Amino acid sequence: MNLILLGAPGAGKGTQGELLKKRLGIPTISTGNMLREAIRNGTQIGMKAKQYMDNGMLVPDDVVLDIVRERVSREDCRNGFILDGFPRTIAQGESLEQMGIHIDHVISIEIDDHVIEDRMTGRRVCGKCGASYHIVANPPKTDGICDECGGELHIRADDALETVHRRLVIYHQETEALKGFYEDLGKLRLVEGDVPIEEAHRSILKVIGA
Ligand code: AMP
Repeated sequence: MNLILLGAPGAGKGTQGELLKKRLGIPTISTGNMLREAIRNGTQIGMKAKQYMDNGMLVPDDVVLDIVRERVSREDCRNGFILDGFPRTIAQGESLEQMGIHIDHVISIEIDDHVIEDRMTGRRVCGKCGASYHIVANPPKTDGICDECGGELHIRADDALETVHRRLVIYHQETEALKGFYEDLGKLRLVEGDVPIEEAHRSILKVIGA
């Protein structure tokens, strides 16, 4: 099953992606995590992406498309994958179609901007594996340490309030239109995001018939 998780930054795509990965046994592909890894490793892609990401802007389509094309062609995606944070523009959605990659469901996690702004201040991410936590709603078992891999948890540079504002504006300007794009293809499934994590997970399983 090939899935796309759509939704504003902070809607819970990363968290729901991890739950779906465990439940369905297919990998999550987070373009944000891959770009952050590229920055940590000082690769060419990382160097190109850094200035955009630090400012909460979108990385150019060609950079992101190259990463996704390579990643979905790997062996572990044979039985399916979960895209988190891609596509983010209509052009990226069209490119995905042109690659001939079949998508079964596009799950849009719906949540108001003001809820997101509150949420983002409590977000912590693992510097090693990218797993996402929230200090109140989804705390790690040990303070500051990732449950999954033991890595250290950090505040993301682009979670500063001003940058979150910019990312939300860009979401509404560039990404939200993908809902109409996938609705026309009969693939859009809406779920409420301002609910406990387990409840959103159950709603997602229901809309994808899993
Ligand atoms: P995320 O972890 O999904 O919130 O992504 C963090 C940042 O990575 C975004 O604000 C963008 O700068 C960049 N990014 C991630 N995915 C994409 C994408 N599909 N297209 C363009 N930029 C992206």
